[in-house]
Amino acid sequence: MRTGVYPFTAIVGQEDMKLALILNVINPGLGGVLIKGEKGTAKSTAVRAIADLLPAMEAVKDCAFRCDPAEVHHLCERCADRIQAQETLSTQSVKMKVIELPVSATEDRVVGTLDIEHAIQFGEKKFEPGILAEANRNILYVDEINLLDDHVVDVLLDAAAMGVNTVEREGVSYSHPARFVLVGTMNPEEGDIRPQLLDRFGLSVTVTGEHEADRRVEVIKRRLAYEADSNVFAENYKEEQKELGRSILRARQLLPKVQVDDALLMLVANLSIQLDVDGHRADITVIKAALTLAAFAGREQILAEDVKTAARLALPHRMRRRPFEEGVLDWIAVEAMFADPA
Ligand SMILES: [Zn+2]
Repeated sequence: MRTGVYPFTAIVGQEDMKLALILNVINPGLGGVLIKGEKGTAKSTAVRAIADLLPAMEAVKDCAFRCDPAEVHHLCERCADRIQAQETLSTQSVKMKVIELPVSATEDRVVGTLDIEHAIQFGEKKFEPGILAEANRNILYVDEINLLDDHVVDVLLDAAAMGVNTVEREGVSYSHPARFVLVGTMNPEEGDIRPQLLDRFGLSVTVTGEHEADRRVEVIKRRLAYEADSNVFAENYKEEQKELGRSILRARQLLPKVQVDDALLMLVANLSIQLDVDGHRADITVIKAALTLAAFAGREQILAEDVKTAARLALPHRMRRRPFEEGVLDWIAVEAMFADPA
């Protein structure tokens, strides 16, 4: 029996995790998602499922970065040169993939390597692509990201924020598009991530197993049905899958048009002050997430409810730690602000 990917829309519960993944797939500029939770909570199932959900995309054939021919400002050097030379780039349809980054990966393996000897000898750049090249337009999945070398996490977060990977060696530099959705998972019992790095993850969610008996039963039933015949199971979710895929693509197109008014910007600023959140990155991420939520809802205007949902996903990991409530969002304070936004 061939086992297909578990349908995203068949995952029971875990609403915040699903929403955070959807928002990042709509808008990779959000800066990824950190999923905290114990083992066996369908984290990797969800990540694989969302990649599978989306229709195939056009990519330049024989390009190591799978450049998007429609995005002329986001091409690799080679594709850009070929366009410049009036060449027509042939394309192929490719599915979004999940690229796994092993915890043992070195920085070279992640960013790729520049052959300096070749550059000196022949006067041209020779670049050996790394994992960030593979990750372009895909999902980069790092299980147990808290065990990864801090420096490598730093590099990943930089690339995720910029959408570009730049490698420099002895005055020679090479850049290529690296627009990916960074998904890191961690089990908080096995050590935390440094706060400076934590702050640079766009969104964070905590997943737990279902606590209600009937929900747990539903999880079991679906799992058994899927294992009995994954094709029949997938067939049952076909329409829902298609609909969600379409909503994501629609949201991507709508996103650049979404507007936010000053009153809501003020609300976000006050929210961060009230919650004692460090720096300005939090405010910006809340707004970006709210813009993406509005686009996902098919609106061109942000509503207060978008800000509220965005805050729940973007703020908890950015709050200064207090001794008795580690990174727990003071949600009562948030509710109060939305009830009385003045
Ligand atoms: Zn290219």
